[in-house]
Amino acid sequence: MKIHCLGAGQEVGRSCFLIETDQRALFDYGLKIFSKHGKSKTNMVPVPFQGRIDAMFLSHAHLDHSGYVPELYTRPPFHWFATPPTLDISSMLWADSLKIMGEDAPYLDRHINRAENNFTPLNYEQTLSLGDTDYTFHDAGHILGSASIRATHKQKNLLYSGDFKEEDTRMHKGAIIPEDVDYLILESTYSNRDHPNRQELEDTLIHKIEETLDGGGSVLLPAFAVGRTQELIAILHAHLRGIPIFVDGMGKAVTRIYQNNDNYIRDPKSFGEATGKAIFVESPSDRRDATNEPSVIISTAGMMEGGPALSYLQNLNPRSRLIFTGYNVPGTNGCRILNENKVIIDGYELEVSVPAEYLDFSAHVGRSGLIEFVKKTNPEKIILNHGDNTIAFAEELRGMGFDAVAPKNGDSIEL
Ligand SMILES: [Zn+2]
Ligand SMILES: [Zn+2]
Repeated sequence: MKIHCLGAGQEVGRSCFLIETDQRALFDYGLKIFSKHGKSKTNMVPVPFQGRIDAMFLSHAHLDHSGYVPELYTRPPFHWFATPPTLDISSMLWADSLKIMGEDAPYLDRHINRAENNFTPLNYEQTLSLGDTDYTFHDAGHILGSASIRATHKQKNLLYSGDFKEEDTRMHKGAIIPEDVDYLILESTYSNRDHPNRQELEDTLIHKIEETLDGGGSVLLPAFAVGRTQELIAILHAHLRGIPIFVDGMGKAVTRIYQNNDNYIRDPKSFGEATGKAIFVESPSDRRDATNEPSVIISTAGMMEGGPALSYLQNLNPRSRLIFTGYNVPGTNGCRILNENKVIIDGYELEVSVPAEYLDFSAHVGRSGLIEFVKKTNPEKIILNHGDNTIAFAEELRGMGFDAVAPKNGDSIEL
């Protein structure tokens, strides 16, 4: 087996490995996401590869894993495999990216269609054999349909973790930890810190919401469209009854994909009840209602870089509160609001008059979970990716007796 790191080496973004056995398979084909304000567009896509590709496997729909796929279909097509929800969410995100990129887009509508036409669904724990290599998906507990990918060739198992969450959340059970892993490609987004316990976080969130509603304010929860919007709907339904919960932005359409694939949700029945009670904002008058009375508003964008969340911010009464539940990249409005009480809307810098805070609801495993995962799988070789501290973490794992490396993009490793 030989692997080539084509993206997300010593960085987060544009995830991609080429896994060479008797087959040549791509694992993920992502696009590096960058802030709209400044920063060049170079180094956003995987390192180019030479030679044929037999198949591609996508771990999940987030754009840093799927975003460059349509570009592949400007060339002679090959089949790719993912869980059905990964196709549904990816298709939506590709179409949205195409709109945002406009003339700069590296692909057209018809390439999205061609990608969709070359898709074959593969479910969790279902094995696909291509030549002398077997491929299997395991539930990764990260977002709807997210998977880790196992490749087995000549009795050796390689596991590509994808992004994963080891802890149970409202939407998903924690990731499957497979046995018999010889080579492990491990995401290490949070190799340097742990996340707070999910149950305690939920309690803190609910307490803060109740306090704000009691004081006559509303709570704005800027949320990522994929995963976080749905998790918040489920959490609020579990704890708060009789309070209007408004849902707005792209998260609405993603929620419909969650409803249509509810066999990938931990508790479809209670999620069905939760979405049945939520108010999906469809008109300007709905939007006004949302801020006219004490309410909770879940809206994209998660980092306040556009979306209806910005217009809600302008309409909140001063007793209201803003709670971020996702990470805010430096340079984004979310980061600006948290650190400087300022926001940029349509190029104007405005002061934010309501308090804002951040609760760390991550969809990723934290440091302790990563180390535990390594100990449980006990691989003979570990290849770290998807992190800003992979070099230091590899050294740390070597200190614990593991053979760990942190390749950069363009590196190949013979296994
Ligand atoms: Zn992800
Ligand atoms: Zn990722």
